[in-house]
This record gives sequence, C-alpha cells and structure tokens, in this order.
Amino acid sequence: MTEYWKSNAMHWCDICKCWMNDTKQAKLNHERGAQHQAKLANKLRDMARKAENDAKAKSFNDEAVSRAEAAAKKAYAADLKAAEAAAGSWEWDEGSSYYYNATHRWYYDPKTQWYYGGEPTPEWSQEPPIPAAARFGVAQHAGGPVPQGQGQQGAGGAAAAGSEGGAGAGKEGLPFVTKKVQRVVAIPKHPLAALGGHQAPTTGKVGGGMGAGVVLESGEADVGAKRKREDGKGGAGGGGKGAKGAMSKEEEEALARREAARQRVAQRTAAGFGYV
Ligand SMILES: [Zn+2]
Repeated sequence: MTEYWKSNAMHWCDICKCWMNDTKQAKLNHERGAQHQAKLANKLRDMARKAENDAKAKSFNDEAVSRAEAAAKKAYAADLKAAEAAAGSWEWDEGSSYYYNATHRWYYDPKTQWYYGGEPTPEWSQEPPIPAAARFGVAQHAGGPVPQGQGQQGAGGAAAAGSEGGAGAGKEGLPFVTKKVQRVVAIPKHPLAALGGHQAPTTGKVGGGMGAGVVLESGEADVGAKRKREDGKGGAGGGGKGAKGAMSKEEEEALARREAARQRVAQRTAAGFGYV
C-alpha cells in the first residue's frame, strides 16, 4: 500500500482574499476577527456610496437629455414654421377657380394639375420654378377641391411628399391617397388531386365516364350507351358509318384513302406470306 497525499478542504473568504480551513470553527474564528470585520464594513460603505453616485449620475443624465430634447423640439417647430412661411399656402380663388400662392405668385389648376405664373410673361407649366416644398399638395392649401391622384403628380412633388410622410401624415390636404389593396392568394391543390380517388370523374372517356353506374333520368342505368354528338350531326344513326349522306366531301375522300391503304397493306401482307 502506498500512501498518497490528500489536501484538506479549504474555504475562500472573498472579502479578505484569503484561504482558511473549511471547518465551522475556522470560519467562525475568521469572521469574528478584527481584520475581516473592518474589511466587511469598508466594503458595505463602498457599495452604498457607489449606489448613491450612480443614482446621482443617472438623474443628471436624464435631466440633460430632457433639456436637449426640449431644445430640439423647439428648434424643429421653429424650422417647420419657417419652412411653411417660405413655401406659402395655396388659397382657393373663386373668381378664376384656381388656387393661388401669394408667396410665389403662381396659380394652380386642380383639374389639370398644371401651374400658371412666372415673370415677366406668365405661362402654363408642370414644373414651375418654385421650391419643391411650395408645390401644391406639399404646401398647405385651403378652400377648394382636391384633385384625384394628387400623390402621383410631378416627380419633385412626390419626392418631397415622401420625405415629409412621417411628419404630417395626419394633416388634412397632404398629397397622400391611401388605397386598400386586397391580396388574393390561391390555395394550392393537393399534388395528387388530379389522380382520382374520391375525386374521380363521373363523366368522360375513362372509368365512371363510360357510363357504368351512371343512372339516367329515366331511371335505368346507362350501361354501354354511346355518347351522343353534341352538335346533333350523325347522332341519329348512332355513329359515322350509317350516315354517309351527312358526311362532307373531305370526310368521304379521307375514308376512301384509308380504305385503299388498308387494301394495300393486306395485299402486301398476303404477298409476304406467299398467298399471292
Ligand atoms: Zn474575511
């Protein structure tokens, strides 16, 4: 038997950063010691101070953020107001039945969506030399009718409208036309649905379609009955052969050719077997 070395179980004090024997007595002794008591008090004090500092910093940051937010909101409102003033607004002019923008001195016809104005000789235009924010539909307008499909007017106007979409979606008179689009999705059939089973056809050229088991209106089963031609031709004789009179010339010629071909094949076959 060889002896082997075995370590005693040890206990780590995380406050003093030291090891001690892992016995109840040793731990108790350590925790009662002056060094451990002092370090524990120190640690608790540090934790309390840290929590206090954190709370202070947080409240300071919150205050700074809310102050910055308020300033930004104010600046944004001022910018918005300035932009609105620069763009002017379109007032309905009953006399001409056009909109008139007094800031840029252009008219707008909601029916044709053309603008009229310019110096020194006014003319009609779809691309007036006014800022995109001043275009009809982007700038405010009041009083008159709103043309249909306004959102699809000139490219500049549409782009400006798109960039402002978030800001003023709720306002009246903005160039957005909301459209409800319903999407129809076809539900795919089972891949083997065409093969039969409970969906096997009861009419047609195969299976039940040949008439077996199909009960006619008269009450008897339609066994072996021939399908009738839907256009009524040749239906009376129950088929092609009996109704020669009703056949067209082309059909007769085709039948004659087929008969001749059959004869030729029969002769050749007979010759092949040495019968002729
Ligand atoms: Zn300790």
